[in-house]
Formats: sequence, C-alpha cells, structure tokens
Amino acid sequence: MKYPNRSEYEKAWREKNKEKYLKTKKAYYLKNKEYCCTKARERYSNVVQPDRKTNREKYKEIDRLWAQKRRAKFRELFIQIKKEMGNKCSKCGFDEYPQILHFHHLRNKRANVSEMKSLKKIREEVTKCVLLCPNCHMILTFITEKKPLCTTLSDGSCD
Ligand SMILES: [Zn+2]
Repeated sequence: MKYPNRSEYEKAWREKNKEKYLKTKKAYYLKNKEYCCTKARERYSNVVQPDRKTNREKYKEIDRLWAQKRRAKFRELFIQIKKEMGNKCSKCGFDEYPQILHFHHLRNKRANVSEMKSLKKIREEVTKCVLLCPNCHMILTFITEKKPLCTTLSDGSCD
C-alpha cells in the first residue's frame, strides 16, 4: 500500500502496531519524564491553547466526546468496584439493583467517591467504604446525627 507522505505512513503503522507502540511510548515517557512534561507544557501553551481560542466550536465537540468517554469509564469502574464489594447492601443485603448502591465511609473520609476525579484515588477511597442501599444509608445518616457512625453498623467492620 502506498502512502501520500511519511506522517500518513507512520500513523498507519501506529494503528497497526498499537500495543507495541503504546508500550514503547510509555517506557520512553517513564525514562524521560521531566523532558516529556516540559515539552507537553510548551506544546499546550504554544499550539493547543491558541488553537483552542480560534476554533472554539471544534473543541466544544472534542471536549464533549472526551467527557462522554470519561463518564463511561467511571461508570464501568463503579460497576466493577461494586461487584468486587459483593454487589449488595452490607446492612440489609439488598442486591436487586447494584447500580443504586451508595458508598458509605467508615473512616477518614476525604471526599464523596462519586465526585472524585481520579480513578486511582477512587480505588483508594473505596477501601474505606461499605456498600449500603439508599434506604439503609439514609436511616444510618439520620441515626448518626446523634450516635457515632461505627456503632450503628451491624457488621461492626469499623475499627
Ligand atoms: Zn440496605
């Protein structure tokens, strides 16, 4: 197959050898982290930022698609985490709709899990949580305005 220019050829090669390309790219990045970051920052302020200013409409669409992709990724992560945590309310055992289960903090709450922006931090944060159905969560919150949180949990998993 003929390519009109070198960059087209390279693009096709990267598509074809995606895994190999990503692996090499990551290895290079880890080895030259500082250089890569400086370059990326330079590129952002010299190329991306001015381009964003002149092509607002184009970037609106790009950002929309990116946000959509990210939301899907988070949704998937929460489904996976809930599955790992048993997919049911730790108080009453409700397991009909795992999608509606809440994360309830037992200790050291840093933020609402659903509002966190980093996949890695979410992973860390949920280790301090149990799953509760909305009903149990609301009852618990109501009760704990007078009592400490941990004593009201039947499984007593808090230390
Ligand atoms: Zn429940």
